[in-house]
Amino acid sequence: MERFTSRMQAVQSPIIPIVGELIRRHPGTISLGQGVVYYPPPPEAMAGLSEFLADSRHHLYGSVVGIPPLLDTIAAKLESDNGIFLDNRRSIVVTAGSNMAFVNAVLAITQPGDEIILPTPYYFNHEMAIAIASCRPVLVPTDENYQLRPEAILDAISDKTRAVVTISPNNPTGAVYSEDALRQIDRICAERGIYHISDEAYEYFTYDGTRHVSPASFADSFDRTISLFSLSKAYGFASWRIGYMVLPSHLVDAVKKIQDTILICPPVISQYAALGALRVGASYCRGHLETIASIREIVLDALKPLTELCTIAPARGAFYVFLKVNAQLEALELVERLIRDYRVAVIPGTTFGMKDGCYLRVAYGALKPETVAEGIDRLVRGLKEILG
Ligand code: PLP
Repeated sequence: MERFTSRMQAVQSPIIPIVGELIRRHPGTISLGQGVVYYPPPPEAMAGLSEFLADSRHHLYGSVVGIPPLLDTIAAKLESDNGIFLDNRRSIVVTAGSNMAFVNAVLAITQPGDEIILPTPYYFNHEMAIAIASCRPVLVPTDENYQLRPEAILDAISDKTRAVVTISPNNPTGAVYSEDALRQIDRICAERGIYHISDEAYEYFTYDGTRHVSPASFADSFDRTISLFSLSKAYGFASWRIGYMVLPSHLVDAVKKIQDTILICPPVISQYAALGALRVGASYCRGHLETIASIREIVLDALKPLTELCTIAPARGAFYVFLKVNAQLEALELVERLIRDYRVAVIPGTTFGMKDGCYLRVAYGALKPETVAEGIDRLVRGLKEILG
C-alpha cells in the first residue's frame, strides 16, 4: 500500500520537528528556534477564559464565523489599528489561528492546478497549504535585503495565478515592507484580477521607526485583499489557536463551508480569551515591545563580529534575523553541529525554501534577554569556530 497519496507527497515534511528532536537529545541547548513571544497572555484574556468557564453553554457549538461580540471588537480594532473600514463588501471570519485563515483563503480562491506566488524565503506553512490544496507555489526571490521585487512578481504571473502572498513584518527575515512596495503589489493584483493575501501576524512588531501598513486600508482594495491576523504573537497565546481574516464578502460562503467542514466553529473558549485581549488592545503588546526591542539590540550587536562570515540584512520587524552564511555548508548539518557542539539551536534556511546557499533563522522573541544573550554568544562562537 502507498504510504502517501500524491497530494500528500507534494507536501514537504517539516524540518522544525527534526530540530526539536535534536534539542531534546542535547540537554542544555538554548533554542533560538521558536517563533513565539516570552510573555504571558494579558489578565483580561484570562478573565475571558474564566467568564466562559463559569458559563453553562460548554456543550453548544458557536457560530461558524465567530461569536458576535468578538466580531464587533475585531471590527473596531481593524478601524483603529489598521485603517480597515468594514462595509457590506468586506467580512470578518474568526479562525483557529491565522494558519487556518491562510488555508481558508487558498481553498476558497483556487482550483487544483492553480498557482500562488510566494516571495522567498517563504513561511513554510504557506507552501504546505498550497500543496495540500493541489496547487503550485511559484517562488519569486526577494532582493538582497529581503524586500519585495514587484517587477519579478509581475513577470511570474501566469493565467493560472490566483494570488500573491506577502508577509510584513516577515517571518523568517524580519523585513518590513514599505507602503510603496505593498501599493505596487496591490496595483499588480488589481490589474491582473488576482488576490493579495496579506499575512499580518506580526503587525505590532516593528523597530527603528518602521511602520506596519495593512494593504486592505488602500482605497478600492476591498474585492481583492485577504488579510490574515493572529493573536498568537501579540497576546502570547499561540496555544489557544485564535486568529481572524478580513476578506471580500463574495468569498464568505466558500470560507463558511470550509470552516464548517473542518472546525464547525472556532474554539469558543479561545474566542472569549480573544475578546478580553482585544479589549486591552495593542497597548498590551506595545508594553512588551521595549523589552523585545532591547533583546533585538543585544542580538544585532552580538552578531556584528560575524560580518566577514555571514551576510546580515536589516531586520526591522517581527523577532527574527536571517543570516546568510558565506560558506558551502548544508544548513541542517550546520544546525546539527551548533546544537551538538555549542548547545544552541536555530532553524535552517531550507525550512523557508532557501535550497541554494546556507541560511539560518535566529528567533529572539521567546526567551528572557539574558538567555538570548547567552544563546547568541554560543552561536557566534560556534559559527566563528566552524567557519573560521
Ligand atoms: N503567519 C506567519 C507569518 C507566522 O510566522 C506564523 C507563526 O509563526 C503564523 C502565521 C501562524 O500564526 P497562528 O498561530 O495565528 O496560526
